[in-house]
Amino acid sequence: MKAPKRLCLVLGDQLSFDLASLQGLNAERDTVLLVEVMEEASHVPHHPQKIILIFSAMRHFAEALRDRGFQVQYVSLEDPDNTGSVPGELHRWQSLLQADEVHITECGDWRLEQSIKDTDLPIQWHADGRFLCSRNEFLAWAQGKKQLRMEFFYREMRRKSRLLLNGDGTPVGGAWNFDAENRKALPKGVTAPYPARFAPDTITLQVITLVKERFSSHYGAMDTFDYPVTHADAQALWAYFLDFGLAAFGDYQDAMASNEPFLFHARISAALNIGLLDLRQVCSDVESAYWSGQIALNAAEGFIRQLIGWREYVRGVYWLRMPEYATGNRFGNTRALPEFYWTGDTKMNCMRQAIGQSLGYAYAHHIQRLMVTGNFALLAGIAPTEVCEWYLAIYMDAFDWVELPNTLGMVMHADGGYLGSKPYCASGQYIKRMSNYCRDCHYKVSESTTEDACPFNALYWHFLMRHGDLLRSNQRLGMVYKNLDRMQDTKLDALWNRGQALLARLDAGESL
Ligand code: FAD
Ligand code: SF4
Repeated sequence: MKAPKRLCLVLGDQLSFDLASLQGLNAERDTVLLVEVMEEASHVPHHPQKIILIFSAMRHFAEALRDRGFQVQYVSLEDPDNTGSVPGELHRWQSLLQADEVHITECGDWRLEQSIKDTDLPIQWHADGRFLCSRNEFLAWAQGKKQLRMEFFYREMRRKSRLLLNGDGTPVGGAWNFDAENRKALPKGVTAPYPARFAPDTITLQVITLVKERFSSHYGAMDTFDYPVTHADAQALWAYFLDFGLAAFGDYQDAMASNEPFLFHARISAALNIGLLDLRQVCSDVESAYWSGQIALNAAEGFIRQLIGWREYVRGVYWLRMPEYATGNRFGNTRALPEFYWTGDTKMNCMRQAIGQSLGYAYAHHIQRLMVTGNFALLAGIAPTEVCEWYLAIYMDAFDWVELPNTLGMVMHADGGYLGSKPYCASGQYIKRMSNYCRDCHYKVSESTTEDACPFNALYWHFLMRHGDLLRSNQRLGMVYKNLDRMQDTKLDALWNRGQALLARLDAGESL
């Protein structure tokens, strides 16, 4: 019997030689297809650096596949026959090549996967082995549980991977989690390593020209692009972090500082998410650094928890709950996203710093996303869909499976507490404790109700007052509501009025 002719689609976030759908292809008979399509590049206004990264990394990957003997069809954005969508290109190439089977590894975006499933093509789907926990495994773990908790899932993943475990299966150091040691502000005199940078090569420069021509209306700088686009350079970025960042990662994981966009963070999320780095290797390198005495346990455990705990957990929740998950809006928010999220034009220094570096580098670290831009959106009652669109557009590492649960669930608490048991709401005091932003701010973090008071302060109490019916019964907010109840009516009125005035300014389209 004649062997079937296969067409294997590789998406822009699947640039890994180990990809399940690439295995067993026949060099003469089968074809690998990579497509740059307008629909994926513009369904939200992606940061230009994110488009540069993906197109350039795809072009490099296509070359590397050819070098390994694969037959590759590469469709560039400028190709006059490009239909503009993934299903369109799949139809076109299946028909042109008369392929008997189309092989695809499961997508990172429910919308895209659905649009491919809606075609009548002879598709064979493959599980995405780049993750430690498959979709089905997560489903089985979640089944029958009243409440899901990341911490318990994480322990399962530690057991499964055997990372940082003693011979008898107990966690190294006697505890699963050392997060309490990972909340230090940056002391004076501690400086972050100079970030590893990668100059654009000829392929990347061609892509930059293309993106300048076609995506000039998207927000974000292009000329600062310095991100790795090949496996070798991604590996160099990772090696640099192992040498210069990881030891301090644990201690200063939550710290923030003016004009320090990266601090002791790895900057590997985009490379990991598109397949230039391998999760298992990254975790094993971190474990080795611990066993060799190069780093402390809180740094090793903290880093590994982000990867096999949070990263795998949010993916599991996404595929468990989509598509309903995307519509969550527990607080019934309707406010539009303020314009300054797209420009950084605000007098709040913390927001200016976090948004400014997001526009400059398509990057902000976790606490900036959660406790600055995210916290503001939560307190100000911005519509979750608008917040999610911003996060999906602005960050180089943003793909629906990871962005949506982090934003809609963790930041906006819009999923009703599925991802986090309480909203991560905080006043300006938290930002003051974890950063030096307040020192150079137009607003006074010590004030709550005056004209020049930190907006986070009144908005924090306003948020708690306006959602008391939903949040009061949350045990983890018990102390906060006790403090609120102890306040005098005059104070409560002043906080409420200041909150109302700030929200009215946002509604009028003013910046703060
Ligand atoms: P480091 O701080 O050095 O951490 C190491 C790695 O841990 C990261 O590279 C990442 O792969 C993983 N990680 C850490 N926290 C998380 C998390 N909560 N979820 C998933 N992975 C995690 N991460 C994305 O990869 N894509 C996103 O679209 C994304 N959107 C986010 C939106 C919001 C509102 C928030 C609060 C967080 C989001 N994160 C997202 C998680 C986290 O902020 C980024 O992974 C991290 O900032 C990437 O920078 P880094 O590589 O320097 O990470
Ligand atoms: Fe941000 Fe308030 Fe501090 Fe200004 S005072 S930096 S607005 S927390």
